[in-house]
Amino acid sequence: MDLKELTVSDKTVLVRVDFNVPVKDGHVTDRTRIEAAKPTIDYLTEAGAAVILMSHRGRPKGEYDEALSMEPVRVEAEKVLGREIVPMYSNVVVDDAVARMAKELKPGEIGLLENLRFRKEEEANDPAFAKELASLADCYVNDAFGTAHRAHASNVGILEELPSALGFLMGREVEVLSELLNHPKRPFVAILGGAKVSDKIAVIDHLIETCDAILIVGAMANTFLLGEGHSMGASLVEEGEVDRARALVEKAKKEGVTLLVPSDLVVAKSIDAPQTAHTVSADAIPEDEMVLDIGEETVSRYKEVLKDANSVVWNGPAGVFETKPFDKGTVALATILGDLSAEVVIGGGDSAAAIKQAGLEDKMSHISSGGGASLEFLEGKSLPAIAAIEEV
Ligand code: ADP
Ligand code: MG
Repeated sequence: MDLKELTVSDKTVLVRVDFNVPVKDGHVTDRTRIEAAKPTIDYLTEAGAAVILMSHRGRPKGEYDEALSMEPVRVEAEKVLGREIVPMYSNVVVDDAVARMAKELKPGEIGLLENLRFRKEEEANDPAFAKELASLADCYVNDAFGTAHRAHASNVGILEELPSALGFLMGREVEVLSELLNHPKRPFVAILGGAKVSDKIAVIDHLIETCDAILIVGAMANTFLLGEGHSMGASLVEEGEVDRARALVEKAKKEGVTLLVPSDLVVAKSIDAPQTAHTVSADAIPEDEMVLDIGEETVSRYKEVLKDANSVVWNGPAGVFETKPFDKGTVALATILGDLSAEVVIGGGDSAAAIKQAGLEDKMSHISSGGGASLEFLEGKSLPAIAAIEEV
């Protein structure tokens, strides 16, 4: 159901959000996910609902762990939302005291439950735990795209118990990603990179069927280059994936999809020796050096393809962007994308972080809030939490 069709005035609404944010020394270091949930929360409180937020944080393995309490997130969320958030905490997430607090919550007020993964029943999608959660509220909204690829009590089991709707963030993720895969504006170009080919085989395989060109970057390119017979020195390669990389190249050819790999690369003795960085051609990688970024010639070749694109999806950084100067290729590609008038969609946790690090997030059409979930979407899989809500 559309969120706007759900009757929420004077109701208590349980909202699954993705507040699994990074925390350091007791403080939230990236509030993006909290900001992303704000439109749904604001809409509900303005419509006269009492709102109970719930999320997981980290991996507490089904037991109470003080270090993974939601408290630092609550403090930050109060700042982001500009209003008080009542801590509705129990070490077992739901108990009589929490149930009483839920009853006392008034229209327009917001409460937050303790970390859902303090109960092992959450990830087990246990129906009894879903019932406990549901007993706190009159209806349910799911706005946590980050966990949409998992079937848990708080995003699938609970649908059996309460009238349900997708929140605005979820709605937008589904709309943007489905539109891109099903009705892309052509030419549609995919940039795929990151650490491993093995993580992304299914994504490349699926995108070959829909896009017009694929540009390979990152450590993933090493395995493709190895497949072409280049010697890769001390680079990160997946020898066991060479055959699959070759098969993807063949499939692209058959489908008439342009698939490009880097022609020059930035190499160094190690990630910790940036002063040794220099650019070499793909057929001249020194035995004792490793590929850590794409080179300028590769960036220019890719720019030629990108400048005609009308839609672009990017998953996986072009190099070890966490360490300068190996962020250069990633930043150069991000800058090119930022200047295009094309629809540009970013998927993947590290890719989103790289775009933010470059300060270019406002130049992209959409940065997906779900790393794993956006990958599974791009693989063409249906996400359990979304499929389930569409069935009820
Ligand atoms: P995403 O989270 O966007 O899906 P990945 O997790 O697949 O991306 O990959 C991100 C990681 O890949 C980064 O930590 C980056 O340092 C690493 N990486 C990119 N290029 C290389 C390379 N040439 N050698 C080693 N690691 C690389
Ligand atoms: Mg990653």
